[in-house]
Formats: sequence, C-alpha cells, structure tokens
Amino acid sequence: MEYVQAGDAEIPELGLGTWQNTGQSCAETVETALELGYRHVDTAQMYGNEAQVGEGIERSSVDRDDVFLTTKLDRGNLEADDARESFEESLEKLGTDYVDLLLIHWPHPRVPFEETLGVMDELHDEGTVRHIGVSNFTPAQLEEAMGITRAPIVTDQVLYNPYKDQSDLHAFSLESDVALTAYSPLGRGDAISDSMLAAIGERYDKSAAQVALRWLVQQENVVAIPKATSREHLEANLAIYDFELTRDEMERIATLDGGIKRRIWNRFPGLMRRIPF
Ligand code: NAP
Repeated sequence: MEYVQAGDAEIPELGLGTWQNTGQSCAETVETALELGYRHVDTAQMYGNEAQVGEGIERSSVDRDDVFLTTKLDRGNLEADDARESFEESLEKLGTDYVDLLLIHWPHPRVPFEETLGVMDELHDEGTVRHIGVSNFTPAQLEEAMGITRAPIVTDQVLYNPYKDQSDLHAFSLESDVALTAYSPLGRGDAISDSMLAAIGERYDKSAAQVALRWLVQQENVVAIPKATSREHLEANLAIYDFELTRDEMERIATLDGGIKRRIWNRFPGLMRRIPF
C-alpha cells in the first residue's frame, strides 16, 4: 500500500468507501477488503453503518492499529455538545477507543467552524482522534479552518474524479501540506463505462474504472476512496499499481471534466448554479 503524507498523518492512498453499504453486506465487505490488503476505511455517522464497519474490522485478522479508520460528524451534530456526544456514540458503534481521522462532513452555514473544530482539537488532545480534517470545504473554507485549529487539518475530502475539476483546491492543498481525498472517484459509476478511459485502459489491460483510480492516485497528495462491494471490484481497485499513465494520458483524462459538466450545464443550468463546487 502506498501512503500520502500530510501534516502528521500517513494516509493509505487507496481506501474503501462504504456509503450505501449497510447491514451484513457492509461487515462482509470490510472484512474482505482488509483481508485483500486495504488498510483505510471511510465511514460517516450519516451512513448508518458504523457498527457494521466496526464489526468487519473486528472479524478480520488485521489489527485495529493497522487500519486507518475515518468517520465524519454529521451536519446536524456540529454544535459543540452534539459533536462530542455524537462522537462518543460513533466510537461505541465502531467498537474502538479512537479513530484515525475525524472530519466535519459538510460545513453548516449557521454553526461557526470554531465551535466544531474546538471540540475536534480537544478530542485530538485527549487521544480519541488521531487526526482531524474537513470535507466538502472550498479552498477559502479550508484556509479558514486551518487558521483555527491547533492540530493540523490533514485532509479535505471532496468530490473528485475525471468529471470534476479540483485544480484550485489541489494546488492549495499541495502548498498547505493537506491531502486531497477524492470521494466518488468513479463518478458513482459513470467512469466504469467511459469510452475514453476504456480506450486508454486497453493499452495496459486495465478497465475504465482502474484508469480513473490510477489517474487520481498518480497525482501528488491525492487519496482515493472508491466504494466497492464485491470481491471482484475490491480486487480490481487495488490492482492499479502495476502501470503508469503517461503525461499525455493524464492531461487527456482531465479534459473529461469540461465535457460532462458542459452537458449537465446545458440541460440543468439552474441546478448547476446552486451547486457550490
Ligand atoms: P464511487 O466510488 O465513485 O462508485 C461506486 C460505484 O462503483 C458502485 O456502484 C460500485 O459497485 C462501482 N464499482 C466500484 N469498483 C468498481 C469496479 N472496479 N468496476 C466496476 N464498478 C465498480 O461512489 P461513491 O460511493 O459515491 O464514493 C466513494 C466513497 O466516498 C463513498 O462510499 C463514501 O465513503 C465517500 N463519499 C463521501 C462523501 C462526502 O460528502 N464526504 C460523499 C460521497 C461519497 P459495487 O458496490 O457493486 O462494487
């Protein structure tokens, strides 16, 4: 497993996403993923699967200390008391006495960052949170958060895939020693049937999904957390370290952003104006 260094954290570059994977399927997926070599699992209070993620880790033969476990404070739990109380519930559900990374899931317009980040700093001091970070923060919001905390903000987890340009945030995160964690790295499935990604993959005997993931992790400071349920998909997503995209291929894949965005913009301009990034 490759790692991304950010602040005082070493984050496994490829993690397992678990959104919409619930119940026993989730516990089984986490157990299988760890057996296959994954060492990074991403969950959230909102996903309703923290207990099953904990069960999967417990059932696997991998030591808890060897797993980089992330959870996120729900948008409704960002006031100080709620943040602390809900985090304690998360620990209980996860069956662990610490998480490796705690994120603010989404900024809340009416809860000042200081309020939540203050509690996260305390939890970090107390040792129940090893690292802190944010999610769905713009570069300006990330910069503001970095000016508030004592502990380093080690990542901003955002939508990032070949259809979503994040070059501003990526440039800012690189100069700020913050990892960019790419969620929905497969475009929630869009990348799987992408003809350009498939054509590039043919040269390496790789699928379009594998090319999309390789494109992400080949960028400095980028972590990707694809969600996969089946053993086949879990294995395929790990098998992206035996080939390297050329500079030209990296640049061509980046042009996909303009394509799909323009198509959605043409169909739903009102909707696109309401999406912040
Ligand atoms: P995604 O990872 O972009 O795509 C998941 C889809 O791709 C699933 O349908 C999965 O199918 C399929 N898939 C996975 N590997 C494949 C492969 N090798 N070949 C073909 N299909 C494959 O979508 P996502 O779940 O939206 O994002 C990933 C993770 O990011 C989430 O699970 C969550 O942990 C995190 N996330 C965070 C936020 C946030 O606000 N911070 C928002 C969204 C997501 P199977 O399940 O059948 O394998």
